[in-house]
Amino acid sequence: MANLQEFIEGLASTDAVLKPRPLKIDSKTSLRAPAIFTRQVATIVGLKTSLGRFLPVSHEGHSNETYVDKVDLLGKMRAEFIGRKLKGQERRAHMALFRELAASQNGGDWRGFFKAKFGGECVIPDQLCVACWNCSLFGGLDADAQAATFTRIRYFDTFSIEDALDCVASADSEDMGIGNQVYEDLSRETDGGKGQARGRESYHLYEYVKAGTRFPFITIIESPTLLDVAGYIHAVRRADAHGYGKYNANHGKFATEFLAVATGYPRFSVLDMLEWAASGELSQHFAPDGVKFDGLGSHDPVALFGDEVDQLAERFTDAFRGYLAVLA
Ligand SMILES: [Zn+2]
Repeated sequence: MANLQEFIEGLASTDAVLKPRPLKIDSKTSLRAPAIFTRQVATIVGLKTSLGRFLPVSHEGHSNETYVDKVDLLGKMRAEFIGRKLKGQERRAHMALFRELAASQNGGDWRGFFKAKFGGECVIPDQLCVACWNCSLFGGLDADAQAATFTRIRYFDTFSIEDALDCVASADSEDMGIGNQVYEDLSRETDGGKGQARGRESYHLYEYVKAGTRFPFITIIESPTLLDVAGYIHAVRRADAHGYGKYNANHGKFATEFLAVATGYPRFSVLDMLEWAASGELSQHFAPDGVKFDGLGSHDPVALFGDEVDQLAERFTDAFRGYLAVLA
């Protein structure tokens, strides 16, 4: 617990980072999240394992084929999971969680809560309020108000530990259980959506990542508050259950093991983690005398592992209460 307390002391204050400030443009005043860099960062490191078929789909082929992007890296072809996809899904999961908490404070009405506290409902991606916790963390642009927030969360592309020869397979649309969705898309193109007997044109070939494929990841949060870090862990768990990638109603579910949460920047990369995994040493590096982090400013970095990360996640409800206090 001493370690956890020291970690929390190395984080930024909710009031400085998350309390919306009035911004006056012409005669109109709106709220926006502060643009601030406190010279503090937190790093979250983990390992995601696919629980079912996963279609990262950053790349659609010609005709009726969808591919998994593969990269030749450290002596293997690997399936690629780009940071932008991680960010998109985790931002939505974060917002779903945030709305639930807001609703619980306002008789089930999250919209009313958002309007009162942030001046708007905040809808991803086109009607961001640029004042709320989600906008502060993930960034956003409000074209009407001529206001923007920079993202404070940084993602990195990641790659499968397993060789694509072993972890990528293909199936057709029937076999993927997504034949109807594809048929509807195609029928709109071919007959203007009038609908016709299902034919050869509804056939679609998919590559997918198999269950049990592992992706190491690193996420960095700048000016991190306790709410940001504890909330991020919950948002990832929510995204895992909902699914990443295309057709995520049926596919793309993950389990995430958090290997470390630390103040400071990592002195290692996703590539190092791929090499450690190849030699069977990944878990050895994520222990108190393992991986190193670089602090900024006066605080020495503090790293949490194992149960300490769970204890950090348990601080989420208290941290949200602290946020409500600064919004009041
Ligand atoms: Zn917002």
